Amino acid sequence: MAKKNIDTAPIQKILKKNKREIKLGLKVCAHCSLCAESCFLYQATKDPKYMPSYKFINSIGRLYRKNGKLSRGEMTKIRDIVWHDCVLCSRCYCPFGINIPSLIALARQACRTQDLYREYDKEPTEG
Ligand code: SF4
Ligand code: SF4
Repeated sequence: MAKKNIDTAPIQKILKKNKREIKLGLKVCAHCSLCAESCFLYQATKDPKYMPSYKFINSIGRLYRKNGKLSRGEMTKIRDIVWHDCVLCSRCYCPFGINIPSLIALARQACRTQDLYREYDKEPTEG
């Protein structure tokens, strides 16, 4: 089956509706890494890609900065970040008040508009 192009309109709608929360999260994040202590996936691996801040900055943050204009390959990588690298358990805590799970959930919403969901029978995209 041919891969569809990205339809930016529904993504831009999500970005517009949640602009304040996304913008604030990106602005306020001090890259202090304190949220990493509360993510069991990061604690189990110590791999920076599992840091909660990395996950929201490279999913909804990236979508926001590009105004939803990403390639399907880039969207697929975001899909892997927000489904494979995060289980949305809501345990991560940011002392600066950023609601990280809420931001990651927005990126999941954006992926859903492009029919991108976690594929439980496949490994995440390489690279
Ligand atoms: S704890 Fe908050 S400010 Fe610090 S890196 Fe994580 S999200 Fe950013
Ligand atoms: S919601 Fe995601 S980033 Fe936060 S603690 Fe759970 S797995 Fe880690």
